[in-house]
Amino acid sequence: MTVANLLEFDRDALALFCEQLGEKRFRATQLFRWIHQKGASDFGKMSDLAKSLRDKLAGRATIASMPMLSEQASTDGTIKWLFDAGAGNAIETVFIPEDDRGTLCISSQAGCAVGCRFCSTGHQGFSRNLTTGEIIGQLWFAEHHLRKRLNLPEGQRVITNVVMMGMGEPLQNYSALLPALRMMLDDHGYGLSRRRVTVSTSGVVPMIERLRDDCPVALAVSLHAPNDALRDDLVPLNRKYPLHELLAACRGYLAKAPRDFITFEYCMLDGVNDTDAQARELLALVNDKHAGISCKFNLIPFNPFPESGLTRSPNERVTAFARVLQEGGLIATVRKTRGDDIDAACGQLAGEVQDRTNAKVRMTRAPVKVHRSGSDVAVAIAAGRAEDRQETNA
Ligand code: SAH
Ligand code: SF4
Repeated sequence: MTVANLLEFDRDALALFCEQLGEKRFRATQLFRWIHQKGASDFGKMSDLAKSLRDKLAGRATIASMPMLSEQASTDGTIKWLFDAGAGNAIETVFIPEDDRGTLCISSQAGCAVGCRFCSTGHQGFSRNLTTGEIIGQLWFAEHHLRKRLNLPEGQRVITNVVMMGMGEPLQNYSALLPALRMMLDDHGYGLSRRRVTVSTSGVVPMIERLRDDCPVALAVSLHAPNDALRDDLVPLNRKYPLHELLAACRGYLAKAPRDFITFEYCMLDGVNDTDAQARELLALVNDKHAGISCKFNLIPFNPFPESGLTRSPNERVTAFARVLQEGGLIATVRKTRGDDIDAACGQLAGEVQDRTNAKVRMTRAPVKVHRSGSDVAVAIAAGRAEDRQETNA
């Protein structure tokens, strides 16, 4: 008999499982609350369930997140956990406390197949998708682990916001992601409002459309370039879904939720995508009369790692770039770097990935050519080798 891990099941799937055990579907709600609201993993302690059901569950089910391999705490309060995803893979989860919120940054894949130049996960290649249980298990573990540690009274939450910004491209693992998102929003689960759950994507256009219809949480889109030539090189998925398609998908997303906005993430790379001329090009892109998109820009100072060959834009450049956007009428903020002393900052999550995609070869592309002459000069892109032009994404 197979033993089911109940973290894999959203409430509908759990109801089906209860039915298969010969139990009433409503038992699933009780069980779901024990698991996700109370953090229980021992069926024996679920006092309002009949003894017969507890016995059945003990033989056929388990409640377990991935084993935690290590925990590191930053001087700024950020905590990073490394989880064992089996077969030599490990993924990372980051908790970022702030005055008025606690944000958990969750991974969706062991590695990533998109292969963005400036991302440490991308350089590691791709091993596999995480399951629903492995995705929600990061929240289950972090919430209840921290509640216990902080000795909080029952019902008091630690994690108020979730961002799918850890390792992996969440929209290339849609079927596992969707039930996990539903569990985050479920009032019998974590009860997070849809605006406090953010999916960040490098631009998987068809799945942006699916997400809008299935579970329209907050959407962040990793833009990083104002034109296709540069974006093709920085975010290879752009060759499959170029900017005009991506922006159309963003508009389509907002059509369902007109009071929302898209967060455009923009990683600031010295001499590559950070000139005033590029800021103006960005303005034109998103402000287009017929195609205006309600959006905010989040500028992320690049967090360097050796293999990238890239450097972070100087602070004054980031400020000047933000000013051009702001003067053009956009909201542009600069993301505070958190947890960089423990390599927990954006793009530094690396875990351990048993790559199946030959990333080392794939990622040794010709370097991005940087042109600087004091004023704004267009950035020329070195032509990628022929094999780099092949689509590597699912
Ligand atoms: N795959 C998704 C979500 C994970 S990455 C995506 O790309 O959107 C989360 C954010 O961190 C993205 O905006 C990504 O572009 C950014 N990022 C990646 N590497 C970075 C680095 N080295 N420095 C700063 N930001 C980085
Ligand atoms: Fe993947 Fe996102 Fe990193 Fe690009 S930035 S390689 S999509 S995780």
